[in-house]
Formats: sequence, C-alpha cells, structure tokens
Amino acid sequence: MADAAPLPEPWSNVPDRFRRRGLRWTPQRRTVIEVLAATDGHITGAALVERCRARDPQTIPSTVYRTLDVLEDLGLVRHGHGADGREEYHAGPGDEHGHLYCADCGGRWEIRADQADTIVDAFRGADGFEVDLSHVTVVGRCADCAASSTA
Ligand SMILES: [Zn+2]
Ligand SMILES: [Zn+2]
Ligand SMILES: [Zn+2]
Repeated sequence: MADAAPLPEPWSNVPDRFRRRGLRWTPQRRTVIEVLAATDGHITGAALVERCRARDPQTIPSTVYRTLDVLEDLGLVRHGHGADGREEYHAGPGDEHGHLYCADCGGRWEIRADQADTIVDAFRGADGFEVDLSHVTVVGRCADCAASSTA
C-alpha cells in the first residue's frame, strides 16, 4: 500500500517504526493515526473505534486496540482512567498529568506535574515508589459543588 499523504508530526515516522517491529502497516492502522492526529485531549477506546469507523466502516476494534498498545509502547499515546475506570487515551506526547473528576457535576480538570509534586515525593520518600501521574485519577467535588451542597 502506498503511504498517501505524509502523516503530521509527531506521527510521520510511525509507519517505519511499526515495520521495524515486524508489524504490517495497513490502511486501518493509518486511519487510527489520522483520527488520533485530529483528536484534541482525551478519547476513550470506544470513541476512537467509532471515529475510525466513520472514516472506514471496515475498522475492526481489535486492530484499533492493538495499534493503541504499540503506540503506547512507542510513547506516542498514554492512557489514564476516567472516573468510572474506563481507559482514556491521550494522543501525542504532551505533558504528563493526572485527572480530577467532580462526582456531582461531572467536571474534569488536569492535575499538573507541579501540583502533584508533594504526593509524588511522599511516595518516593516513603517507599521509593514511582507514581505514574498519568494514571492518577482523583474523584471528589469541585469548589462550586462543594459550596452549593453546604448552602
Ligand atoms: Zn491503566
Ligand atoms: Zn462539580
Ligand atoms: Zn488528561
């Protein structure tokens, strides 16, 4: 298959990196990359499958998930977990961050690395445990919801 238009950065060398691992580069995998490249922020695996299907009805979910696994290995995708434990993927290298979810209004915020410093240092200091911030999901109540529930 010809690699049609070049993929945008940071995805341009993905076909080569797949081939170097002995993996075939297929139109389906290309579709996954195209959808990820057009994705801003977070996307669940199911939503990714849906968007791929909108472009290519032949999309097989297992191909999408296997492609995600390889991309995560390559450091191009990272996953965290939503308030309900569902996996959510972050496209692109981006800054590592955790997630805050408000259980009342469903709002979501990012935990920046500098905000998490204290927690990360506490675990490292106590047991040498290295926290993977992108896997940190905290569920609670945002300031607005907390305020309105006590009113
Ligand atoms: Zn996970
Ligand atoms: Zn809230
Ligand atoms: Zn995030």
